[in-house]
Amino acid sequence: MGNLIQLLPDHIANQIAAGEVIQRPASAVKELLENATDAGATQIQLIVSEGGKSLIQVIDNGKGMSETDARMAFERHATSKIRQIDDLFRINTMGFRGEALASIAAVAQVELKTRREEDELGTRLEIENSKIIVQEPCACAVGTQISMKNLFFSVPARRNFLKNNAVEMRHIIDEFMRVALAFPGLAFSLTSNGQEVFHLEPGSHKQRIIQLLGNAYQTKLVSVNEETDYMNIKGLVGKPETARKTRGDQYFFVNNRFIKSAYLNHAVNTAFDNLLPKDSFPTYILYIELDSAQVDINVHPTKQEIKFEDEKIVYAFVQAAVKHALAQFSVAPSLDFSLNAGIQQLDARIQ
Ligand code: ADP
Ligand code: MG
Repeated sequence: MGNLIQLLPDHIANQIAAGEVIQRPASAVKELLENATDAGATQIQLIVSEGGKSLIQVIDNGKGMSETDARMAFERHATSKIRQIDDLFRINTMGFRGEALASIAAVAQVELKTRREEDELGTRLEIENSKIIVQEPCACAVGTQISMKNLFFSVPARRNFLKNNAVEMRHIIDEFMRVALAFPGLAFSLTSNGQEVFHLEPGSHKQRIIQLLGNAYQTKLVSVNEETDYMNIKGLVGKPETARKTRGDQYFFVNNRFIKSAYLNHAVNTAFDNLLPKDSFPTYILYIELDSAQVDINVHPTKQEIKFEDEKIVYAFVQAAVKHALAQFSVAPSLDFSLNAGIQQLDARIQ
């Protein structure tokens, strides 16, 4: 018998890799929106049809791509965001793995139009099964427009795993809200089946939160704001009356990245202590900032889980900051001056 091992062709390798990165329409939405923010866009439009199954389009006014970069962008491990391994520990962009566009091009029909400010004409590409089938110059606005049609058309087994349009749309809205909450200074819109669902003007964090979570929150939020040399935290927590029976509006952002963390969620819950009715979940939207060397974001393909260099300090800080906010606004029963001291001690311990 001869040798058995063969290298997989690119488009199959890409389809396999896509399994990790692009699980459903919402994962593609996340990747495309993040690329737009990484490109320095100030206006980002998201257009979807049929829960993203037939169309996902993102139009940005970011820096665009050269003709060569436009082609390169769809190769696996092609990224402009890191050059060497050390860069992994000081990442200030949402992306860095260079997998998203290659994955998308393996599982959908893609059209890209992109132009840089310095170029008179832009580039238009059509891609199918990871192959560029059309490339031509185009007259287009500065920035990038990318559309993906018929997600998983070449992988029916994956397509069959998708839920109905309403469910997939709910996931898309979740991803859209996470990115929109992370970047309140950017304008966003979301159009679904021809109808505008969100139209968000640039504003403060609080304005963006109210725009997205609803006016009812206007008087029901308490500001969190603490700074130390090690990390800052700002954002809002809902007064106890906004607590819900289901896990609702709970958001952590670390350096603008939405993350899931049961550990930090626990820190917030304990800060509320006995202010909450039993079995209810507090509302919070908290933005943590710390040196990017203090977090490892390369622990999960979709980067929703991260590792803190010193998670105990982050836990203590989040807990103290939320307690302090609740006490200051007299939401908590006693004005506890030691809380302030607690944060200063934390600051001292870090140094
Ligand atoms: P990553 O974001 O991890 O670098 P992607 O596959 O998402 O990988 O994108 C590959 C590259 O294509 C990016 O590094 C960037 O240089 C370029 N790119 C992708 N989307 C855009 C965009 N909307 N505007 C400008 N450049 C983009
Ligand atoms: Mg990306």
